[in-house]
Amino acid sequence: MATRERPVPIDQGILERLNRGILQRTGAYRTDDHIVLRSGRHTSEYVAKALVTTEPTFTEGLGDIIAEHFSRFQVDLVLTTGYGAGLLGHCVARAHPSRPRFIFATKVKTAGRRTEVVLQPEYRAFFAEGGRVLIVEDILTTGETVKQLIKLVENMGGTVVGVGAIWRRSTRMKFKYPLFTVVTRDFPTYAPTECPMCKQGIPINPDFGGGPEEESEDQGD
Ligand SMILES: [Zn+2]
Repeated sequence: MATRERPVPIDQGILERLNRGILQRTGAYRTDDHIVLRSGRHTSEYVAKALVTTEPTFTEGLGDIIAEHFSRFQVDLVLTTGYGAGLLGHCVARAHPSRPRFIFATKVKTAGRRTEVVLQPEYRAFFAEGGRVLIVEDILTTGETVKQLIKLVENMGGTVVGVGAIWRRSTRMKFKYPLFTVVTRDFPTYAPTECPMCKQGIPINPDFGGGPEEESEDQGD
């Protein structure tokens, strides 16, 4: 019984191209470049996580897209971790019709040098009020952070409604809950000896390739 008029669905491929265009405008999506990932592999295509949320109107627009996708579900909490994901998560929570609260977990290093996510103790009570959680991330590289957030929600007795993110770097990435990403794209990466950009003598761009803020979703994985 839709009371709202829905726009005619756009072909998924066209939509992705439009969304990639938005990210290109922010400078976050690099193409025709020559970047060395932390793993040592080379790539011509890259998403600079730190730049994705630098233009508030674009961040809001991307938040709208994710909120719209999950709009038919009741969501009590939007949960994120990390600075960029937090900005996006706020926008998703603001745009979602259930008017969920926005909360975040903090990444901490364990003694074994693993990164773990920890919930602020002040947020625990919210799970008793209603624990339907939408997890929001900015860029998914390994999916490790999302898996930890899922475990955190389950440990709190909550239910994961789904996972929303701007960019999924691998089409093979799957979780046990519905995953929606604005852009899904496999980046080709090359061993230095097989890198076509190296063969063409294109200089390496030293400004991209991973910074301290990339943490466990490091693009070099
Ligand atoms: Zn190269």
